[in-house]
Amino acid sequence: MSGTIADNLAFIRKKIAQAALRAGRDPAEVRLVAVSKRVESDRVLEAARAGQHLFGENYLQEAREKIAACSSVSLEWHCIGHLQSNKAKEAARLFTVIHSVDRLKLATALDRHAGEAGKKLTVLVQVNVGGEQQKEGVTPLAARELLQRLKQLPNLAVAGLMTMPPWSPDPEEVRPFFRQLREMARHFAEEGLLCSPGRPELSMGMSGDFEVAVEEGATLVRVGTSLFGARQ
Ligand SMILES: *Cc1c(COP(=O)(O)O)cnc(C)c1O
Repeated sequence: MSGTIADNLAFIRKKIAQAALRAGRDPAEVRLVAVSKRVESDRVLEAARAGQHLFGENYLQEAREKIAACSSVSLEWHCIGHLQSNKAKEAARLFTVIHSVDRLKLATALDRHAGEAGKKLTVLVQVNVGGEQQKEGVTPLAARELLQRLKQLPNLAVAGLMTMPPWSPDPEEVRPFFRQLREMARHFAEEGLLCSPGRPELSMGMSGDFEVAVEEGATLVRVGTSLFGARQ
């Protein structure tokens, strides 16, 4: 993409709205997470001036510096990357939502630090829907047990699921994985394992496939390259 950030943002928002309407959904159900990893804070502020207030970061140290550099405006920050348990304290302070909870040890640490900070932290469970060796996330089979454990943690609000499906140049090939995540979330919501059963959060879809993800029920799409251009 070669437009300005404002142009790209308008284009992405239009595509999200059109995809939602194609699926008979209200476009307002879908939130755009602007993925700002390796994007300088001045460009984050440019996106903020164009009306984008929700950003996703992958790396804690980078996020800490950028969040401080952007503190002149009121922005919301989500953690979308792999998180080590020993970084849970700072993550619980910096972020409003952690998309990448995939093990009990991390969840327990987040719960403890959220409790100490007197806040309830919203988290999503990351599911490795493709069962790929190198990917983070619990397997679909292990997800229910993890959710049952997370339900016992008083300072976490487990709102839904997140996934990074196997990569394909053809978004239609990814569609079944998005559908699978939606069905899993529906079952878990029915079983009382999610905090907002009527509307489970589904974090899925990136630059190459966010329209298909929205058609399949995404409530949070994580878009970087299409908004900010190729990363270094
Ligand atoms: C980098 C990243 C994205 C954004 O990917 P793009 O293809 O640049 O839109 C989304 N989700 C996660 C977890 C990422 O690490």
